[in-house]
Amino acid sequence: MSDDQLSAEQRDARYVMHPLTDARANLQSGSLLMERGEGVYVFDNAGNRYIEAMAGLWSVGLGFSEQRLVDAAIKQLNRLPYYHAFSQKGHNPMVDLAEKLVGMAPVPMSKVFFTNSGSEANDTVVKMLWYRSNALGETQRKKFIGRKKGYHGITVASGSLTGLPVNHRSFDLPLPGFLHVSTPHHWREAQPGEGEEAFATRLATELEELILKEGPETIAAFIGEPVMGAGGVIAPPATYWEKIQAVLSKYGILLIADEVICGFGRTGNMFGCETFGIKPDIMVLSKQLSSSYQPISAILLNERVFEPIADETHTIGTFGHGFTGGGHPVAAAVALENLNILEERNIVGHVRDIAPALQEGLRTLSDHPLVGEVRGLGLIAAVELVTDKGAKSSRHPAGALGKRAAAILQNKGVISRAAGDALTFCPPMIVEKDQIDAILTALHSALDETA
Ligand code: PLP
Repeated sequence: MSDDQLSAEQRDARYVMHPLTDARANLQSGSLLMERGEGVYVFDNAGNRYIEAMAGLWSVGLGFSEQRLVDAAIKQLNRLPYYHAFSQKGHNPMVDLAEKLVGMAPVPMSKVFFTNSGSEANDTVVKMLWYRSNALGETQRKKFIGRKKGYHGITVASGSLTGLPVNHRSFDLPLPGFLHVSTPHHWREAQPGEGEEAFATRLATELEELILKEGPETIAAFIGEPVMGAGGVIAPPATYWEKIQAVLSKYGILLIADEVICGFGRTGNMFGCETFGIKPDIMVLSKQLSSSYQPISAILLNERVFEPIADETHTIGTFGHGFTGGGHPVAAAVALENLNILEERNIVGHVRDIAPALQEGLRTLSDHPLVGEVRGLGLIAAVELVTDKGAKSSRHPAGALGKRAAAILQNKGVISRAAGDALTFCPPMIVEKDQIDAILTALHSALDETA
C-alpha cells in the first residue's frame, strides 16, 4: 500500500522506532498518536479525549495549552532563534534564566550549566566530577553511588547511574565504577517489624559499609532523586535523607540531587530538596523547568564543585564539553516564562491545596483486593498492584498486572504509566478537583476489571 492510503498509525508502524517500546508490537499496531492538547487533556487522532494523568512524562506542569509559553517561544524565535554558548559567547535568555535559577535554589549555588535533557545533564555531571577529581589531583575519585530503582536517564553514563534493570539489560550497562545501594522503599524492603527510622538507619549503614569497602577516596558522588519517580514513586522513609547526608559528609562525598521530576512544585515545595531537608552540592533540573514545551535542562553547581573545575579549565584553556543546543534561547525564554507563571499563579500553593484530593482519594482504594500499597505526596503518586496482599506479590509475570490495568484505564480516558506493577500518577500541576475525581472514578472501575 502506498503511504497516502495509510493512516498515521500505520505509517508510524512502518517508519518509527519508539523509545521504551516493544518494536515488534509497534510493527503490528503502530502507537497511540496524540493530535492536540487542552489543559490537562490530550486528544488522539480519532478525537478521543484523555486526562493526561502523567503530565506526559512527569513534565507538563502547566498543562497542554498555556498560551503564554507559546507566545514566549514565538517572541524569542522572532528576535534571535538560535545562538550558542561556546567560547565565551551567549545570549540574554540564558543569562536571565541562570540568574533566576541561582536565586530560586534552596541552598547556595554558584553557577548554572545548560543542557537539553535530564540524561545529558546527568551525563555532564559525571564528566564534570571526573574532571574535578583530576583537577584536584584525586585521580582515584571516579566512582558514583546511585540506588536500585533510581532513574537518572539513559545515556552511557546517566544510564549507569540509573538503577533499573530494564535500562541496563542488553546494553552492557552499568559501566564499571557505578554502584547501587538499596531502594529506600519501606513497604517492600523493610524487615518484619522494622520501623521507618530503623530502616533508614540500616540503609545509611549499608551506604557507609559500601564506601568503606570501596575506599572513601574513590567515591566522587552520591546521586538520588528526592522522591524516586520512574522506579515507581518511592518517597523515602522518615529520617532517610538526614542519615544518608550524615554519612556523605563524614567522608567528604558530594551529593547530587536529581530534581528532574521533583523540581518546580511537584512535591508541594518548589524543590524536593526543601521537602526532605536535602542540601546538595549539585542540582539537576529539567522537565517542569519549561513544562516540556521546549527541551532544556540545567545543572546548578556550588562553589565547592565549580572552583576546582574552573581552575582546570584555565590550565587547559577551555572546558571541552558542551552541546550545540545547550541553553537554547527559545527554550530558555520559555523556561523563564514558565517560572514567572509558577510564581504569579502560586502553582506550588495550588499543589498543596489540591494534593489531598489525589493522595487521600487514592488511599480510599487501599481496601481493593488488587491494591498492595498506595504511596506518594504532593501531586505524585503510585498504586502498587498485587494478587496476594500478604506476600506483596502477583501470580502474574512481573509487570503484567500494571500493564493490563494501565491499558484498561487508558480505554476509560485516563493515561497513567506502569512502573512494573505500580500504576503511577503525576498530573499537570494545574489539575482541578473534578479532574482528580474523574481519575479516581476511572481507576476504581479499571481495577475492578483488572481483577
Ligand atoms: N532524571 C530523572 C529523575 C528522570 O525522571 C528523568 C526522566 O524521566 C531523567 C533524569 C532523564 O531525563 P530525559 O528523559 O530528559 O533524558
